[in-house]
Amino acid sequence: MSDTPENLVRRTAWPQSASRAVGTPIQPSVVYASLNPDQLDAQYDARIKGYTYAREGHPNAEVLARKIDALESAPPEGGGGVIVGSGMAAVSSVLLGLLKAGDHVLGGDQLYGRSLRLMAHDLPRFGIATTLADPTDAAAMAAAIRPETRLILLEVVSNPTLRIADMDAIVKAAHERGVPVAVDNTFTTPRGYRPFAHGADIVIHSVTKILAGHSDVMLGYVAARDPAHRRAVYDFAVTTGMAPSPFDCWLAERGLYSFHLRYDRAQANAAALADHLAGLAGVRRVLYPTRRDHPDHNRALALLQGQGGHMVSFELEGGRAAANALTEAMPDIAFAPTLGDIGTTLSHPASSSHRNLGAEGRAALGISEGFFRISVGVEDIDLLKRDFSAGLGAVAAL
Ligand SMILES: *Cc1c(COP(=O)(O)O)cnc(C)c1O
Repeated sequence: MSDTPENLVRRTAWPQSASRAVGTPIQPSVVYASLNPDQLDAQYDARIKGYTYAREGHPNAEVLARKIDALESAPPEGGGGVIVGSGMAAVSSVLLGLLKAGDHVLGGDQLYGRSLRLMAHDLPRFGIATTLADPTDAAAMAAAIRPETRLILLEVVSNPTLRIADMDAIVKAAHERGVPVAVDNTFTTPRGYRPFAHGADIVIHSVTKILAGHSDVMLGYVAARDPAHRRAVYDFAVTTGMAPSPFDCWLAERGLYSFHLRYDRAQANAAALADHLAGLAGVRRVLYPTRRDHPDHNRALALLQGQGGHMVSFELEGGRAAANALTEAMPDIAFAPTLGDIGTTLSHPASSSHRNLGAEGRAALGISEGFFRISVGVEDIDLLKRDFSAGLGAVAAL
């Protein structure tokens, strides 16, 4: 049928091709047409597979979810991961999808800033009690478990001080009390740590970061071991409209194809840059998990198999003036509060992620005005060393 003015609004059939596209197609359709009510019934009852409405699921989200499932070795009995519109949508769908009034949730005390805010401000509004404890101290975490604790939320590597949680001991204590453990694996990535292999019940990602890797999409991922957990997360996410855009899923999938290459290169750069920084005048301390002077060095070797990851933190001598001089002297390093971009970015927790803590709260975590976190990218390492040498040179010249 050719297009005429009368039938212009009717979609033209997609051209047939004996050869197949190598790239994944993008499917932006919000709705899917079924043959008849019997078929639609069969779809809703999951007797046959068919998409209905994109908020409930679409092919680009599914392709992306299966890719991250493979990276995370998500247990097949859990039904596979769910893609949502951001990392915080993933965290929210787990906490609000699984918990109800009267429940208690225990979290690590250095979680991602918005996760901390969700625990401190939002869950209590719904009658869900929350406690934070130090995840480098498994006994402190175990002591904070209550009879009504229904979930523990952890990150393996803390932001920005890069402390390593005592994962195995916490998971053991949680499971002895019948409490499921959710791990936000954004910082460590499945290349650095596999939560399911270490007994985690739920894995969360901000796909926005190094998985997608180019600072051009926001997405989140949740996978669970228990299909009932998956169902609860999925239903909450769909009902509250956390739907991911097909185009974003497609971009993230494209990013994932180079994830291993980017991660390995960024990690090698991070290790080298950490050592370089430690040798520069004006640097008070460098935090990198596999360095011998890191407080959790032994745990990093055991838990992360000697992989330090792509994040490095360091502290300058001097206060805000030194911090300003550093970022101004490195115009090619984006001073931006994110991580996981293909290029190196620099963040200053005192003015961004940890600004609401106040100077005293920051001091308790060891975050001064001279504290910086680097998300190391894949640039040539000599270029990075030159940039940071120039930055520290400008601080020394103050
Ligand atoms: C960025 C981040 C999030 C939130 O992800 P968005 O995609 O920005 O919503 C959650 N957890 C961690 C550890 C993160 O780094």
